[in-house]
Amino acid sequence: MSRRRVAVLGAGIMGCAVAIHLARRGFDVTVYDREPAPMAAASRWNEGKIHLGYIYGADPTLATARHLLTGGLQFEDRLRELLGEDLDGHVTADDDIYLVHRRSVVGPETLRAKFEAVSDLVREHPDADRYLVDVSDARTAEIDPDELGTLAGDDIVAGFRVPERSVETRWVADRLAVVIASEPGVTLRLDTTVLGVEPADGERDAWRVRTDGDDERVNVVVNALWGGRLAIDAGAGLVPQPPWTHRFRQCVFIRTRTACVAPSALVAVGPFGDVKNYNGRDFYLSWYPAGLVAESSELELAAPELPSGPEAEAFVGRVRAALEPLMPGIGRVFDEAESTVVHGGFVYARGAGALDDPRSGLHRRDRYGVERTGTYFSVDTGKYSTAPWLARELAAGIAG
Ligand SMILES: Cc1cc2nc3c(=O)[nH]c(=O)nc-3n(C[C@H](O)[C@H](O)[C@H](O)COP(=O)(O)OP(=O)(O)OC[C@H]3O[C@@H](n4cnc5c(N)ncnc54)[C@H](O)[C@@H]3O)c2cc1C
Repeated sequence: MSRRRVAVLGAGIMGCAVAIHLARRGFDVTVYDREPAPMAAASRWNEGKIHLGYIYGADPTLATARHLLTGGLQFEDRLRELLGEDLDGHVTADDDIYLVHRRSVVGPETLRAKFEAVSDLVREHPDADRYLVDVSDARTAEIDPDELGTLAGDDIVAGFRVPERSVETRWVADRLAVVIASEPGVTLRLDTTVLGVEPADGERDAWRVRTDGDDERVNVVVNALWGGRLAIDAGAGLVPQPPWTHRFRQCVFIRTRTACVAPSALVAVGPFGDVKNYNGRDFYLSWYPAGLVAESSELELAAPELPSGPEAEAFVGRVRAALEPLMPGIGRVFDEAESTVVHGGFVYARGAGALDDPRSGLHRRDRYGVERTGTYFSVDTGKYSTAPWLARELAAGIAG
């Protein structure tokens, strides 16, 4: 093997980004995915919040915010590097609104202090002016009771505006899929399931990637399989350390016939839901208890079948019924739907428990990143928002 050959497992945002960086550094890269196209799983069907850390209001420390911040602030720069174009026109226009539910696992006083502490962290960060909007003067603004009364239902006890933005993940997915397909140095092996990775006999730093097609020998493996990652790690000798949780979350993507006025709002903190308004016509809507369709602490969770027909309609009805009392007026988005898609993806997290338990490990996300054994690297992406940054760091590390 004269040129260094790399197998990247998984063509989500992490796998695609690592593969592009490694190919541009001269490696021969093969990317494997069981889907027929890149960026077809969680990295396509998520909300696209580019986290600054506010959402983990129940982490008693600032560790999650600190862990998320650099990747979030650099998201646009790192993505521009990959795509060769800006995100202009594909980013939410307004600050996100956090609505505090009366059954929130953290009360409004604690959240106010937490949000202010996160805003301090954001302002102090050297990359604060590189976010999707300049956040070098980030502030948390509490919504006054009169305005809150017009925005939210009786179960909402406080509201805050924070300067977080989201991106249209389907646009990003389409662009990244085009870039990786035309990247010299990257070979895509789609419709191919990875079955295992083992040390190749008799060679140092050589691995055999077993698939349902041909096997391949490589020098370096990057496991970016997200939901499918741990089972392959275990076979490669990287034993997963519990606790962890795999969840499959379903949500609703609506395009409306006409523009609708609705804020991007999230009900905090616990098993609630949110609405994302990307551009007045494209919306993401979720209700956690309805959308959590499968959960497991086994090595892998089988992908549940997505609903269609009346089952999908019933799911959309459940999301609407839960959101409407909390965000009066949101029904218009459903009434105006020109197209409605029910989709979703896996969420992997190191931690366990239920979101209505303040002690649950799922309320923090401060331990994701890369583990390795020799030249086998396993990436817990943690968040979409940090993936392009983390991918670049990993590729630089592999290239030495
Ligand atoms: C409903 C929802 C909302 C979310 N909202 C946000 C948000 O607002 N902000 C945020 O930062 N994050 C969010 N996330 C999390 C985010 O989507 C993920 O962290 C991120 O997309 C993971 O990227 P990835 O490349 O690691 O995984 P993926 O995009 O899932 O890519 C992994 C790939 O591996 C493939 N694969 C798996 N197993 C195998 C196998 N054995 N053989 C071959 N291929 C295999 C899959 O087909 C997939 O294409 C959300 C997730 C969900 C589900």
